[in-house]
Amino acid sequence: MNIHEYQAKALLKSYGAPVAEGVAIFSADEAEAAAKSLPGPLYVVKSQIHAGGRGKGKFKELGPDAKGGVRLSKSVDEVVANAKEMLGNTLVTAQTGPAGKQVNRLYIEDGADIDRELYLSLLVDRSVGQVAFVVSTEGGMDIEAVAHDTPEKILTVAIDPEAGVTAADLAKLTAALKLEGEAKADAEKLFPILYKAFVEKDMSLLEINPLIVMKNGRMRVLDAKVSFDGNALFRHEDIKALRDETEEDAKEIEASKWDLAYVALDGNIGCMVNGAGLAMATMDIIKLYGKEPANFCDVGGGAGKEKVAAAFKIITADPKVEGILVNIFGGIMKCDVIAEGVVAAVQEVGLKVPLVVRLEGTNVELGKKILNESGLAITAADDLDDAAKKIVAAING
Ligand code: GDP
Ligand code: MG
Repeated sequence: MNIHEYQAKALLKSYGAPVAEGVAIFSADEAEAAAKSLPGPLYVVKSQIHAGGRGKGKFKELGPDAKGGVRLSKSVDEVVANAKEMLGNTLVTAQTGPAGKQVNRLYIEDGADIDRELYLSLLVDRSVGQVAFVVSTEGGMDIEAVAHDTPEKILTVAIDPEAGVTAADLAKLTAALKLEGEAKADAEKLFPILYKAFVEKDMSLLEINPLIVMKNGRMRVLDAKVSFDGNALFRHEDIKALRDETEEDAKEIEASKWDLAYVALDGNIGCMVNGAGLAMATMDIIKLYGKEPANFCDVGGGAGKEKVAAAFKIITADPKVEGILVNIFGGIMKCDVIAEGVVAAVQEVGLKVPLVVRLEGTNVELGKKILNESGLAITAADDLDDAAKKIVAAING
């Protein structure tokens, strides 16, 4: 789960990280009071969307010459003018895709005088099984480009979970970032705070780009992107409350309500499976026969008929889906339950595209009987290979 920059900054501030004063607003009427509550004379008006690259982004409605999604403003009037221009419009950045994202919230922040822009992130480094800091002096820009062009400018330091952030870790990090004096002292306080927040709140990513050294020599968190491990959200009611559903794919929200693992992809075959391994195998074999999956929905182990029906509806709601492949190995999940769920969903929403079903395992005969007697145009398949061939053939006409 992702949150907005202003929410991430409030969270980090509660841990003691240095962030600017700021006010989140939802309508342009609030802009003047928000700006007046800040010290000035420099303000920043920042679009709050779940995507980066806002500064260089362009508003669809405003044309190519208009300013981007992060705007420095030198007076209260300028803040108000920028807020009016930005709110409600669609910001397209390198991370939003061409459709862009509507800006429904702005963050009005006290502006900083920047000396240097650095990069810092915390992530779970699976190669060593530890949380790691990734830092670079090349902040404020696209870190993927830095990694590609000048990988020597990026340092990764994995943190031993027993020891936490040690003096030796801090020495490596501050040296790589070329920090001295007060900025170095600020960093030595900040980095353990970030690590603590990351671990306590079950984050999967904490990215600060840029982390800045200001002209007065002090450090500040200027941008913050935080993602949380969805599997740990049950123990963080405070984090769950920060969810902004308008930023998420409607189908993924519906899937999460049913505790289904749904992933949208780019092809045109919808897949209903049980288990991650079977999902991967199903997608591989679809590709082997020359097509691409549009999505997959993993109904997991002990799903009931209603959950299966919900999964089927989510899959068919995607207009890209030209055919559906149901591939289930009934272990804990029983084939007759799958069959009943599929039949119930088709009776409710109809079936406009070919459907191939491959069932195997517990109660397979009963499952096949339910499908056969349903009177629906369902193609039965004997095994994985047969199923993939049949759905690809059905789509190719
Ligand atoms: P992003 O484009 O979505 O990554 O948004 P950022 O929050 O990183 O802002 C983009 C850029 O705007 C930063 O890299 C800075 O160069 C600039 N910027 C943001 N806030 C301030 C500020 O307080 N003062 C100054 N001078 N520049 C800022
Ligand atoms: Mg940024």
